[in-house]
Amino acid sequence: MDCYSCGNQITKENSSREHIINNSVGGNLVSSELLCKKCNSEFGDTIDAELSGQLAEISSLLGVNRDRGAAEPRIKMISSSGEIKEVGLKLKPYYKLRYKVKGKEVVLFETESKFAKLLKRKKEELSRKQEVFFVESSELPSKERFNILNRFTDENGNRKFGGRIFFRSIVKMCLNMYLFKGYDIQFCGEVIAFIKGSKEDNIHFYYFPNNYNIHELGPEEVSHIIHLRGDKQYRILYAYIELFNFENAIVVFNMDYNGPEIKETYSKDLLNNKELDKNITIRLTRQHFEDLHLISGSFLKSYTNRYQRVLDIIGNRQMNG
Ligand SMILES: [Zn+2]
Repeated sequence: MDCYSCGNQITKENSSREHIINNSVGGNLVSSELLCKKCNSEFGDTIDAELSGQLAEISSLLGVNRDRGAAEPRIKMISSSGEIKEVGLKLKPYYKLRYKVKGKEVVLFETESKFAKLLKRKKEELSRKQEVFFVESSELPSKERFNILNRFTDENGNRKFGGRIFFRSIVKMCLNMYLFKGYDIQFCGEVIAFIKGSKEDNIHFYYFPNNYNIHELGPEEVSHIIHLRGDKQYRILYAYIELFNFENAIVVFNMDYNGPEIKETYSKDLLNNKELDKNITIRLTRQHFEDLHLISGSFLKSYTNRYQRVLDIIGNRQMNG
């Protein structure tokens, strides 16, 4: 196997585990035959970091499972009145111990179970020196609605989203899935160039059709979907992707496709941590592809509605524990 990014052979020494869907958003399928260590780590530090920055906190707030060993996130949240709270997974409160060492402020910030012993020991030690000046357990957000506050949100907690770097990471998930399923890399030149940032044209198009349903979305469903479609009749190869059912896009692989017919869907139910059997209907002709930039243009309202839907699901879980 060769690394699809640099073309170097993947050996025992330079192999690496690539998540098909980024682990930061709950993907748990892994392959060691896609990227060499160097390319994997480069993408991890750049395009995947951007994706994670924009979306990972949504996974955390939904309590989506991630690989063991992943650092437990600390999520800063802001209320409409400007109050800021920090929480962990599933809005779990964090405990804080704040004190000064040589005039410098130190904050111990730990999860409940880990902190119990640490707090006790540190508090005793500091009490002897009479240096404790602040002990706090952060509380769960109150009845007031809290929004995420980080460098990917504005001062009101509204998420800044999208952008070329982010799209490259999304496109990479689609390519990962295509190759993971064993399909031919010969149709992927444009996609690989896009992921590496060396292709000018766009191949990622937001897609929210208003004349048909791509699938039936359950009332409490939050899922990721990647649908691969090789259309022999129209000679098109593409993927349809949904992350959290709001980050929905068509990714164009090849407009001169002469490979086999492909209709393959992967879907992950995020709240129940299991694969879903989804029936995906995509109706796109060659003409649609010529006009994708126009079709894709008016996505914002649908996107916002779907994003709000996930926030409501988080909100309901927040209110109901
Ligand atoms: Zn490589």
